[in-house]
Order: sequence, then C-alpha cells, then structure tokens
Amino acid sequence: MATQTKDYYSALGVKKTASAEDIRKAFRKLARKYHPDVNPNDKKSEEKFKEISEANDVLSDDKKRKIYDQFGFYSDNIDPAAAEAAARGGYGGGFPGGGARSSGRGGQEVPFDFGGFDFSGFQGGGARERGTPKEQSGGGFGGSFRDIFGGMFSRESKSRGAQSGTDLEYQVSVDFWTAVRGGSVKLEIQRQETCSTCKGKSSTGGSIECPECHGSGQVTQMGGRMKFNIQCPKCGGSGRVQNACATCGGDGVVTKREPLEFRIKAGTRDGQRIRLAGKGNAGTDGGAAGDLYLIVKAGTHPVFRRVGDDIHVTVPVTVMEAALGAKIDVPTIDTHGAQDGAGRTQLKIPPGTQTGQKLRLREKGVPSAAHEGARGDEIVEVKIVVPKVQDERSKEILRELAKLNPEDPRAEMLGEV
Ligand SMILES: [Zn+2]
Ligand SMILES: [Zn+2]
Repeated sequence: MATQTKDYYSALGVKKTASAEDIRKAFRKLARKYHPDVNPNDKKSEEKFKEISEANDVLSDDKKRKIYDQFGFYSDNIDPAAAEAAARGGYGGGFPGGGARSSGRGGQEVPFDFGGFDFSGFQGGGARERGTPKEQSGGGFGGSFRDIFGGMFSRESKSRGAQSGTDLEYQVSVDFWTAVRGGSVKLEIQRQETCSTCKGKSSTGGSIECPECHGSGQVTQMGGRMKFNIQCPKCGGSGRVQNACATCGGDGVVTKREPLEFRIKAGTRDGQRIRLAGKGNAGTDGGAAGDLYLIVKAGTHPVFRRVGDDIHVTVPVTVMEAALGAKIDVPTIDTHGAQDGAGRTQLKIPPGTQTGQKLRLREKGVPSAAHEGARGDEIVEVKIVVPKVQDERSKEILRELAKLNPEDPRAEMLGEV
C-alpha cells in the first residue's frame, strides 16, 4: 500500500506561509543547483531536481496548492471545486453525530467520528465499481469515500497514451565574430529519443500486476488526519500495467547525448532565441517531439561594442586633429581580405570637434539578421587625448596659443551658479 505524502514545502525549503514569489525564488535557486545540465550523470541531483520540480509544479499553481494544503498531497484526480467544497464544509472536522472514535476494520486508524453514520450502502463500493473483487485494504469503506464526497475524484482514468515531448533549452556561447558574420556552431545536447526497442510504446507486450497498488487498483493517500483510497495513478485503477520495455524501463524514451551543428545568421544578437522545431525531447507512444530552443550568448570584443545592429567604437583624437579638423583612420568590422584583423575606413573629423562627440558611419555596422541587405551604422565616439609636452618649445607654443584664445570655457557655468 503506497502512501504518497510528500512535504513539498520542505523540499523547496520554504515556510507554509510562503508567497508565490518566495516559492518561485526558492525553486529557481535550487533548480540552478540541481539542474541535470549542471550535474551530468549525478543520480542524486537528478532525483533532487525531480523532487523540487514536482514541489514547484504543485506549489506554484494556486489551485493545486490549495488542494495540497487541504489534503497533504496533490493528485490530478481531485476536482478542485469539490476539494474547495470539502474545505468549506470542514469535512476534516468530522461527520454529523456524536460518539466515540471509531477505528476502521482492517486495522486502519481513522481518527473520525462516524457515530450515527450509516456505511452499509458504501461497503466495498470502490471495488464493485471497477468490477475487481479484490481485497479492500481500506477496511471496507476506503474506496467509497469517493461516493461520500461525490465528484471529489474524477472517475476517468488518466490517459496514458500519446504524450508530447518536452521542449529543451540550451544556451550557446558564440564569439563576437561568429555572431556578427554568421557561421556554424557545434554543441552537444542531451535529449530524450524515442526508444528503438519499443518504438516509444513503453512496452514490448504483455501485462503484469501493478507494482504501485499490487493489483488492487487503489492506493492510500493521507488527507489531513484521514486516510482514504484513491484510484491508483499508475494503472488507472485496472490493477495491471503493461510489461515495461527493458531498454527504456517503460519510459518509451532513452536519454542520449548527441552532437548538434547548426548555422547562425550574420547579425545574430545576444540573447536571441533560435527554435529548432522537433529537436526537443521525443514524445511517447506517437506523441509529437518537443522543440529545441537555443539561446545565443554573443561574445564581446575589446574594441567594438554592439548595440543591436550598430557598432560603437571610441576613437582617440589629438587636440590638434580635433581643433583643426583631420581625416583619420578608424577600425570597422569589415575586413579587407585579412584573416581576422578588422578593416578600417577614413573618417573626417570636423574642425572644433569636442570630446564625447559622436560621428556616424552609415551602414558600417552589423548586417541585420532580420532584414535582408540592411546594415546598422558604426558610431564613433571621439575621445580627445592631450599631448604630454616635455620640451620648452611646445610649452611656449601652447602658452602663446592660450594668449591668443583667452576665453574661459567655465564662464557660462560659473555665471549660472
Ligand atoms: Zn523502450
Ligand atoms: Zn495500480
């Protein structure tokens, strides 16, 4: 008899009063630590990751969390509306009538007051329903709680047929030039593939007694202080499960690492998501495969800074060039046949250019990945460098220059204070 009481709150290390935000944060933190990508081939981390994922799945969903808080477990078989009604009705507080505590036959403690409540109509109800006259471990009335709480558990067995594969997400680091010019990127991904032995059907034929409920079709769950039976989620109440495929252990999929090579377009941006349809985890029993999402992490460059499709570059300019105007060479991302070095182009510095001033080189930026033929600009920021004069002659010239240009650049500023 399996009991499936799990403490999701302690799994995530949060209090029962935790807010949705607390839960989200706690899960993210733990997920980063235990994610299988971070801990390849580490069974313990994998188990832990499953555990926190399950806890998060329930606690991050308001409806599921309510059910969990009410019953101490969560099952898709519980109808939220009925659970809420049960909560409002305070069923946990006991049934009408007074009297001594009654303990269930079959040794199951039921801390409940059943005095004056007639069970005769419910005897063995659960088993009769499914036509499997098995021994009722709940002592006779377990299965019939579904009748008492009419509709709390949906009666359809969960469909165990085709299930779609999940999506995968990988971050791919590419260097600056590959993102700018495009290129091929290689990485190794871990994905679930359809098992070739059972063709994703999970079974190679034949059935065995369900290991979860040992053939009874029911499992016991704790609901607050009370135990009751629900339909076994593993076999859907039939008491038998299909013989698991030996290759995949009944998963229908096997985990494989595989190399992947793909091309990225010129102009791919940092943070860009690339979707490779059908390259995610395989589905089971004919279910569609998920998608693979690659998130590009573009590298940086010591000289060029990318802002969207524009390239920003800071270029040192002498005082003389800035004052008199000049034609200077500036680096661009275009190469002139060179293997890796950046290209260059001429830029006119107008006379009287100030430091921090930005000059635009049209269409010298990054080719647009979104618009064929379009290109960003290169933005050159001027940074004036002051000569370190040592010799007397240069100092003399500068003093003379100061005499010829006596205006105070701080006059306006000082006048405003
Ligand atoms: Zn298989
Ligand atoms: Zn079962």
